[in-house]
Amino acid sequence: MTQITKREVDRILALSDAFGPSGMEDAVSALVRAELDGVLELTEDRMRNVRGELNPDSSGPKIMLDAHLDEVGVIVQAIRPNGTMNFLPLGGMTAGNLPSSLFDLKAADGSVVKAAVAAKPPHFMSASERNSAPAIEDMVLDCGSVSDKETREDFGLGVGSFGVPAVKAFYKEEKGLFFGKAFDCRIGVAAQIETLRRLKGEKLPCRVQASFAVQEEVGERGVYANYKALQPDLMICFEGCPADDTFQPDYMIQAALRKGPMLRHFDRSMITSPRFQKYALDLGRAKGIPLQESVRSGGGTDGGMIHTEGIPCIVVGIPVRYIHSHHCWCTAEDYLAAVDLAAEICRNLDAEVLAAF
Ligand SMILES: [Zn+2]
Repeated sequence: MTQITKREVDRILALSDAFGPSGMEDAVSALVRAELDGVLELTEDRMRNVRGELNPDSSGPKIMLDAHLDEVGVIVQAIRPNGTMNFLPLGGMTAGNLPSSLFDLKAADGSVVKAAVAAKPPHFMSASERNSAPAIEDMVLDCGSVSDKETREDFGLGVGSFGVPAVKAFYKEEKGLFFGKAFDCRIGVAAQIETLRRLKGEKLPCRVQASFAVQEEVGERGVYANYKALQPDLMICFEGCPADDTFQPDYMIQAALRKGPMLRHFDRSMITSPRFQKYALDLGRAKGIPLQESVRSGGGTDGGMIHTEGIPCIVVGIPVRYIHSHHCWCTAEDYLAAVDLAAEICRNLDAEVLAAF
């Protein structure tokens, strides 16, 4: 397998650090466009979806690669007289993970303000409160202000301010290990960027399209605009998917770190096309790419939206430990295997293969 380059590492760290909760993906869209400058022509719509086609002059089936730009975050709902802020989650955040966590909130002037999630200190809790799980409605974000006026005027925050986990990514080179926030789906975004860069200039039996979609975490809202504009025949959905290797019994582990990307047969949003799934698994294994298979009782992807248009779709999920929390781990080797798989599919999938689906 190819080794990860310094440029790819830097790109993954920058993508992880980029501010991009659902609905405010501007910085991530800009980063993607910069990383693909000179590789393909990209357009950005007013939702901040980014899309394009790698080799528009070629013929064959249209394969849309997709990854979502957004990450789970928070939005300020109200400011209390004491300066703290009620908030709602953007995407699936677990109440139990939130107390004492730190967020970066985007102020009116574009600067970033740190705010910690405060829950009532144990000293002030009743016995029943101490024994019950906290609810997000009872938590507040605290930027250190003492009044509504100070929060609004000095910190520049208000109703509708967006926030993301305040976490800085790093790479442990000797282990090929990434730490950071938002690998769901920024590691998928990175895999798509690298796949497009690798395939640039190759003669392919298909037309490779790029979709970088907003607002997946709030219900797969952005990808449909890319689908309508690109009109693909097939879709490969890159994801940062939940690793399960630290809490499942061995026989249930389907997305472990260092065992390659996970191809999902089933989740809440989609039954994967068995023909496309088998093609991808057979091709990947024939090329010596490590792969995992899963059947998931929860979860959903952009494929859930698009396959209902009659478009066969597979999910290539790079395992990430603790997605939708502040602190996530994923590995260079799983990322590289996902790139290898997607590139091999694009090099081999022609009209005849599609006809057999
Ligand atoms: Zn995702």
